[in-house]
Amino acid sequence: MASWGLSGPEPFLIAGPCSAESEEQIIETARALKKHGNASVFRAGAWKPRTRPGSFEGIGAIALEWLNNAKQETGMPVATEVANAWHVEEVLKHNIDVLWIGARTTVNPFYMQEIANALKGVNIPVLVKNPLHPDLGLWIGGLERLERAGITKLAAIHRGFYTVKPSPFRNEPKWDLSFELRTHLPELPILCDPSHIAGNTDFLQQVSQTAMDINLDGLMIESHISPEKALSDAAQQITPDALALLMKNLIVKKEDSDEEKIRQKLNNYRNSIDLLDDELIKILQQRFKNVDRIGQIKLEDHITVFQLSRWFEMMKDRTSKSSTHQLDKEFLHELFSVIHKFSVKRQTEIIQNNSIHNNP
Ligand code: PEP
Ligand code: MN
Repeated sequence: MASWGLSGPEPFLIAGPCSAESEEQIIETARALKKHGNASVFRAGAWKPRTRPGSFEGIGAIALEWLNNAKQETGMPVATEVANAWHVEEVLKHNIDVLWIGARTTVNPFYMQEIANALKGVNIPVLVKNPLHPDLGLWIGGLERLERAGITKLAAIHRGFYTVKPSPFRNEPKWDLSFELRTHLPELPILCDPSHIAGNTDFLQQVSQTAMDINLDGLMIESHISPEKALSDAAQQITPDALALLMKNLIVKKEDSDEEKIRQKLNNYRNSIDLLDDELIKILQQRFKNVDRIGQIKLEDHITVFQLSRWFEMMKDRTSKSSTHQLDKEFLHELFSVIHKFSVKRQTEIIQNNSIHNNP
């Protein structure tokens, strides 16, 4: 993992309640987490960004003193969320060790810049949650603003994305966004926040395991001494005991095998995949040649590029082959949607280029 100023036993864990609610709740939760020894950082939100007014909006700056007491007693570094320059000022005054920026803040470049400016000259670890919706640019942009302000101890937190589609998750994981973030910023540690992805306690173990399986660098999990009494996110918080069990059940994976025989076996399959992908590319080339020929006919005969009935027919046919070929129906739907999208693009270009030539 790149140097980001934090370390601890694997898997790296930040844990604590969604919100700081009382001095007693903070110290008892911190003590119980310390007893189990899984958490490297203790978290609690002092200011809570709530969707609707009137719900519990955090206890405010007083919570920072409680966090400091918890740090004194347990020795665990403490983390809280900041959403504006004033929060940053308060947090620095109170010696908070780690800051995180919430999904509702990452989404707003004005706030990200304000926070970055307030942090100039202070090299404290800052964790940036993904924005509410799957916009990789905003996530990277937020990280860049902090980097330009001189913050080098940076990490991202994958907490899932708002979706209108019915989903068993509170926030769709969309793991591919993490892969893309890794491609752009290969050195950046990425933690996973299974609590805000799951939104309930049933999927926490499963989401945490997926995070390990895809080699993310750690977890942030909400834990409350009495989750049923929590003033925010009660449905997704677990007791420190339950968290210890979750961590015990996690299977931590390594990136590669230590055994030559296994590495060889993997290589053989990968070589075979490389050859198959070459074939796939050649088949796609043939397919697009036909797409271009059809584009030419559409141009000459004044036929529209997109035909709804053909689209329905094609998608129905391709997805109907899912079970006979042991392929996921949704996968086939997405694959052919992309292929079709680019077919339409190529044919549109053929028609537009021709009209440019004809109407200079
Ligand atoms: C939180 O961590 O409690 C929180 C508000 O998270 P998010 O910004 O991911 O919704
Ligand atoms: Mn929360």
